[in-house]
Amino acid sequence: MTARATALELRGLTKRFDRLAVDALDLTVYAGEFYALLGANGAGKTTTLRMVAGLLPPDAGVIRISGIDALKDPVAAKQIMAWVSDEPMIYDKLTPLEYLEFIAGLWGCDPASADVAAHELLNSLGLAAHMHERCEGFSKGMRQKVALAGALVHDPKLIILDEPLTGLDAVSARHVKGLLQARVRSGCTVIMTTHILEVAERMADRIGVIAAGRLITEGTLTELRQQMGQTDTSLEEMFVALVENAPAAA
Ligand code: ATP
Repeated sequence: MTARATALELRGLTKRFDRLAVDALDLTVYAGEFYALLGANGAGKTTTLRMVAGLLPPDAGVIRISGIDALKDPVAAKQIMAWVSDEPMIYDKLTPLEYLEFIAGLWGCDPASADVAAHELLNSLGLAAHMHERCEGFSKGMRQKVALAGALVHDPKLIILDEPLTGLDAVSARHVKGLLQARVRSGCTVIMTTHILEVAERMADRIGVIAAGRLITEGTLTELRQQMGQTDTSLEEMFVALVENAPAAA
């Protein structure tokens, strides 16, 4: 049997602030998976993903992105990855189209293909009617969608999103979910944190739950139910039970 290709491997990933935020975390996400990372507030999700995105140096551990050691070769790792923060930053004076062209230019993308990709992204996110308006007057949800489009314009293979659906109306959330599902169908890997458990339940191939910076369980919805000895419990009920019984941070 051939081993499944991995999109992300974390081994012993550790980060301490005044206390341990991420505690020797081991996590494997396979290529082509939609993986939902869940955890209570303060569990260490954002800290983990910020280390993966190269925005925060770990105290210890290994981060491999499609086999590339992200701590030794951060540029190569970033080239194949997208990071969408829960507090997106875009350039207000640019229009969405100009912003995407600018980002594509930074990645050294071919301008003609980047233009096609930019139009496709703005269309699929429902931003086509606003693509020539400056971003400065945009709502929070519109800005979030522009940031997402910017993160995807260089066609990353691994897409990491921190709470991408918070603050989006139902139509915008559907656009974002549709776009992410299309990327997974085309072979990309998506890793997403969310507090909207219904989304994880419906969209994720596998779900991981973090508490006090450690992975306390993971699996498909069916596997999680089996682990909990339940047959048709909702993810919300399992999540609450898991998190309430989890050990506290060291
Ligand atoms: P949420 O669901 O609320 O976004 P989270 O799982 O993303 O939570 P993190 O933001 O990773 O949690 O925080 C994990 C722990 O690390 C928390 O105790 C938090 O207070 C702490 N922490 C995170 N960033 C910093 C920082 N820059 N300085 C000090 N402590 C921090």
